Amino acid sequence: MTEGFETLAIHAGQEADPLTGAVVPPIYAVSTYKQDGVGGLRSGYEYSRSANPTRTALEECLAAVEGGARGLAFASGLAAEDTLLRAVCRPGDHVIIPNDAYGGTFRLFAKVLEAWGLSYDPVPLGDVDAVRASVRPQTKVIWVETPTNPLLGIADIAALASIAHDAGAMLVVDNTFASPYLQQPLALGADAVVHSTTKYVGGHSDVIGGALVAGSAELGERLAYHQNAMGAVAGPFDAWLTLRGLKTLGVRMDRHCDNAERIVDLLLAHRKVTEVLYPGLPGHPGHEIAAKQMKRFGGMISFRVAGGEAAAVDVCNRARLFTLGESLGGVESLIEHPGRMTHASVAGSALEVPADLVRLSVGIETVDDLLADLSQALG
Ligand SMILES: *Cc1c(COP(=O)(O)O)cnc(C)c1O
Repeated sequence: MTEGFETLAIHAGQEADPLTGAVVPPIYAVSTYKQDGVGGLRSGYEYSRSANPTRTALEECLAAVEGGARGLAFASGLAAEDTLLRAVCRPGDHVIIPNDAYGGTFRLFAKVLEAWGLSYDPVPLGDVDAVRASVRPQTKVIWVETPTNPLLGIADIAALASIAHDAGAMLVVDNTFASPYLQQPLALGADAVVHSTTKYVGGHSDVIGGALVAGSAELGERLAYHQNAMGAVAGPFDAWLTLRGLKTLGVRMDRHCDNAERIVDLLLAHRKVTEVLYPGLPGHPGHEIAAKQMKRFGGMISFRVAGGEAAAVDVCNRARLFTLGESLGGVESLIEHPGRMTHASVAGSALEVPADLVRLSVGIETVDDLLADLSQALG
């Protein structure tokens, strides 16, 4: 990376508009492009499923901030995941996934891709030996989330990349929780990065989107072919909102982290909190690895409440400034009960989460207000 992260986030892929000098890439709300004679494309644009200038600006910026060869923007994080998996896997292939994977990712494997002949094993990725033991000759992808959702587990990206590569498999990292500001998986050996840009990259809870960033141009070509062939692209309005969010990712992430650190202190001191899950805590089992591969420890915190499920649900219901809702990564703080909300679909599976768990997405509001709200919600 030649220029700094914030410079790339604000400028990469975003030359002033050649026609007007507009400093922000316009929203090209258009499906097709006039050709100068048959096959005479202007700047390569032909049809907006294949490419659209607003989406191109976002895709170039995503590639730059992840330090990748090619960025691709999708209609959602799950659309990006599906495109990647069906581009690189064939029936009979095997994938290793985190045993506390994002619920929607787990559902994609369990309810959709398994029916197409893909097998998967949920493995605790914090345990490198367990991952190595789960690799089979058919293993095509090791799918990593770090930190994980909602248990904030940490996986060693560099160690898992070498296991994957020894086995002739790919290492894919879902970098949604950390964001490219805090963690750069491609530099640690990953082959591709996945984002739900709905979360920190977009950052304002106003758009659904996803991204793939490929480490090599060859993989980037293959994924771009599938992006066009499968068609789950980001529309120009969504691409524009996402790019607008991405510009401020660095400053937002620093504030998310500042606020989260203060909230962790409050939770640790609270008598109703039995456990705080945050990779920034020295007692966290993944703390040393997180400190090695992350710039800071992020804005997501989970904690367990004395009194079980009912007490955890009560805390969620009593919070006011922390809005009760799914999703994460926006400027506004959110609170949720994973067992009954985001992770209800994994109840009864290997991915079931504790019933007394509460998850916070710490926003960038005035931290004293957040602390006061959490204190009253805990009672
Ligand atoms: C939200 C999320 C996804 C799915 O993204 P969508 O934009 O909702 O399709 C994937 N991975 C993680 C870690 C997420 O938080």
